[in-house]
Amino acid sequence: MLRRISEQIARHRIFLITAHERPDGDALGSELALYHMLRNLGKEVAIYNQDPTPANYLFLPGSDRIIRELPPLDSFEVAFVLDCSELDRVGGEAARIGTIPNLVNIDHHISNGGFCEVRMIDPQASSTGELIFRLASDIGFEVTGEMATCLYTAILTDTGGFRYGNTRQGTLLAAAELVASGADPQRISENIYEADPPARIRLLAATLPTLALEEGGRVGSLVVTQKALADAGALPEYTEGFVDLPRSIRGVEISIIYAELPDGRFKLSLRSKGKVNVERVARVFGGGGHMNAAGCRVEGELPEVRRRVIEAIRASAAEA
Ligand code: 5GP
Ligand code: MN
Repeated sequence: MLRRISEQIARHRIFLITAHERPDGDALGSELALYHMLRNLGKEVAIYNQDPTPANYLFLPGSDRIIRELPPLDSFEVAFVLDCSELDRVGGEAARIGTIPNLVNIDHHISNGGFCEVRMIDPQASSTGELIFRLASDIGFEVTGEMATCLYTAILTDTGGFRYGNTRQGTLLAAAELVASGADPQRISENIYEADPPARIRLLAATLPTLALEEGGRVGSLVVTQKALADAGALPEYTEGFVDLPRSIRGVEISIIYAELPDGRFKLSLRSKGKVNVERVARVFGGGGHMNAAGCRVEGELPEVRRRVIEAIRASAAEA
């Protein structure tokens, strides 16, 4: 498979790189690292994301090159679709991107069904960034300092700061090599985790009173409403990381954020500890992800949504 990806790179000149809507550190770090690699190989490359880059990732080298309007697609020969288990995850332009003659999917979600022929999918990998690192190593491309910063960011954020169960020996070895290639762990962490706008902390303050513990303390959750966002002057992306708070409580095995969307639906972020599988819960609602980190969108009034989610958690526990 790796050979087929390197063939795609060798044989073509004009590339599009994209990733999932509401891009996170893994999506952005992977896109930008691949961008730098392809540019270094003399290719023409555009990076397209449906949604804006959260402010704490603007330090990533090349982030100013990301576009949010798709250019005319006729010239693109290959589209790299990163960190997406399905093509639809790229957002509203998925169908158009699907018309580019060669699609390459690089991803690490268990729910990935293989939507295109040329792909590199490893659910054991911590992050898509770890896979891009592997790709670069395997084709003998020497990782530049810019790439190292992007890939370290991807791995750092998708492992929750090297804490989640996806942190394996290979993950830490990759991170160590990236540091050797110029990634600066302290500078990167400061940019990502210690550069919050005050509105994020105001939003957190408004959100904490919604803490609920259910199922004998095994399920912890927080609710972020549109009103709380507006009152705090916060952007939706500021909720990133809130899900770690209920999870930090002893005894909590599943942590959930119910974030109200402008259309009234709820975007759920689910996290679990150990062998508890939240991907199965997200899948009930048409979402997906990984065993310990998953997401989905659910329609309905909040009490009803919560009831259905608890039901899905019980069903998934009974199945296990
Ligand atoms: P987050 O809670 O950070 O948005 O997402 C956690 C994980 O679940 C990520 O790996 C993300 O790709 C996946 N995920 C989040 N929302 C969805 C969704 O609506 N559909 C699918 N298939 N995966 C999702
Ligand atoms: Mn990822």
